[in-house]
Amino acid sequence: MRTDPNIIITGTPGVGKTTHAEALAERTGLRHVSVNEVVKDKGCHEGWDEAFKSWIVDEDKLLDALEEDNVKAGGCIIDWHGCEIFPESWIDLVVVLRVDSSTLYDRLSARKYPEAKLQENLDSEIMEVLLQEARDSYDEQIVVELTSNSTEEMESNVDRIEAWIKQWKQDHAGDGAQ
Ligand code: ADP
Repeated sequence: MRTDPNIIITGTPGVGKTTHAEALAERTGLRHVSVNEVVKDKGCHEGWDEAFKSWIVDEDKLLDALEEDNVKAGGCIIDWHGCEIFPESWIDLVVVLRVDSSTLYDRLSARKYPEAKLQENLDSEIMEVLLQEARDSYDEQIVVELTSNSTEEMESNVDRIEAWIKQWKQDHAGDGAQ
């Protein structure tokens, strides 16, 4: 039984996952778990893909590392461009961030993504790949889609998720004692 919820913030690279997760962690005291950092720091990969400039993730190793880190105990804001690998029983809310193509293009260009990687991510956003993955992997009741085109939208998203966390904690007060 968790006394703090676990929340996934997911979406195509560049939608604002890290920015949201950091703001939420600061406001709520929950722990920001950057899965990219875990992959890198704990060596949960099978090497570096030079063309795509990204790690080739070893999902079994990644899950083991997250299990060792006791993520399932709760209180984590899990930030990653994927969500299907986490056991359903670990997760209380899945937030899928979305942006307009032109905004995403600008953000990924600023990161100097290789052309193929930039195009693949733009296609993925247009095709709603991460939203579909979330809907396929979790109960529809816990999947929320939010837009992240502007600072105002981000602030309103963070307010909304913070309110959700407060409510969840009220609803589950006492669970840890049972
Ligand atoms: P991700 O973690 O999904 O790859 P980041 O949080 O690193 O995305 O954000 C990518 C870039 O876009 C950063 O420069 C960040 O400041 C900017 N950004 C993210 N969300 C917003 C937003 N809602 N409004 C304006 N800029 C944003």
